[in-house]
Amino acid sequence: MLNKLNVEGLDVKGKRVLVRCDFNVPLNEKLEITDDTRITGAMPTIKYLADNGAKVILCSHMGKPKGNPVPELSLAPVAKSISKKLGKEVVFAPDDTVVGDNAKKAVSEMADGDVVLLENTRYRAEETKNVDAFSEELALLADLFVNDAFGTAHRAHCSNVGVTKYVKPAAAGYLIEKEIQFLGNAVNAPVRPLVAVLGGSKVSSKISVIENLLKKVDKLIIGGGMAYTFFAAQGKTTGTSLLEPDYIEYAKKMLEEAGDKIVLPVDTVVAEKFDNDAPSKVVEGNIPDGFMGLDIGPKSIELFKSVLKDAKTVVWNGPMGVFEMPNFANGTNEIAAMLAELDAKTIIGGGDSVAAVNQAGLGDKMSHISTGGGASMEFLEGKDLPGIVALTDAE
Ligand code: ADP
Ligand code: MG
Repeated sequence: MLNKLNVEGLDVKGKRVLVRCDFNVPLNEKLEITDDTRITGAMPTIKYLADNGAKVILCSHMGKPKGNPVPELSLAPVAKSISKKLGKEVVFAPDDTVVGDNAKKAVSEMADGDVVLLENTRYRAEETKNVDAFSEELALLADLFVNDAFGTAHRAHCSNVGVTKYVKPAAAGYLIEKEIQFLGNAVNAPVRPLVAVLGGSKVSSKISVIENLLKKVDKLIIGGGMAYTFFAAQGKTTGTSLLEPDYIEYAKKMLEEAGDKIVLPVDTVVAEKFDNDAPSKVVEGNIPDGFMGLDIGPKSIELFKSVLKDAKTVVWNGPMGVFEMPNFANGTNEIAAMLAELDAKTIIGGGDSVAAVNQAGLGDKMSHISTGGGASMEFLEGKDLPGIVALTDAE
């Protein structure tokens, strides 16, 4: 599937291997990591390299320090977390320029199997502009390069793309491999029927996803706020629901072309205010004046379940309602519960969908939860991801 060199294709013993990970994890006020999913995701590659005698030099961005050394966005807490998971000390190299004297010293003192973590790559303004000079400085620290940061694979930055100009070969880590294997097979070589469930707030932000997926799926379920623009296209009233008037014509065209491939909600949980405590009711068809749709209704849940029942592959991107409000999370939770039970490959991509599934405690019941919201979305749009294109082709 992924026609790129992977870590196992590298001769790493005694070599300095620069590994770009996605350690962009959330921190609380005490600078403690509140969700270490991304660190856990990077461990197989780190372990493999350390166990095979590489000198493992880790790098990542965190948050948006915008080219300045912002202490609250230091990767120091990440070094501690990796040390714990690895059962061996990871040396953190605090360095305002990321690749300065501290970093060079830490790398020069490494023994085979040691692990060093560099400081937040976005302390450098060049990082997100993919400026050659910083890419080369990073590359000079290493003999080989591995990219395992799926979450930034849709961006061309120094530490994932630029650096591959100066250090070769460049291989994919296990996490990137796994992401591409699941997302790629689901979309390009699925066990059928393939059903996609799309939701979230806007049609406009997911047009390319809709278009690309319509070509591939057997059924496309549309829920969430984006359903109302399709309601309008069907001639239904939408009250004060989210609506994108500029996209009604587009939705009409999609419905004409896709026929019964597109499955829309048949009833809606509505309220007069965008508020968890607003009194709500279920309406079928039209949404009355003064009311907004905040979740799919019980008949829609049944309809969607009947479509999902026979699916062998499901790709889900975007919640079915305003799941952040408990009173309007039912549709999203019901679909999550259904997918958890389903005898099918279930792939969840999209930051909020992943949050919803985890909030429901069903993360480990899914076949694959993507670690990259934006990257998985661009993948579903059928785009090439620069962080992957830049890697060395497999023989
Ligand atoms: P993802 O991150 O999974 O790709 P999106 O970012 O596209 O999902 O959409 C998630 C957002 O959509 C959530 O904040 C959710 O509250 C919102 N949303 C879903 N349904 C509705 C609705 N009916 N009205 C308003 N917002 C909605
Ligand atoms: Mg989102």
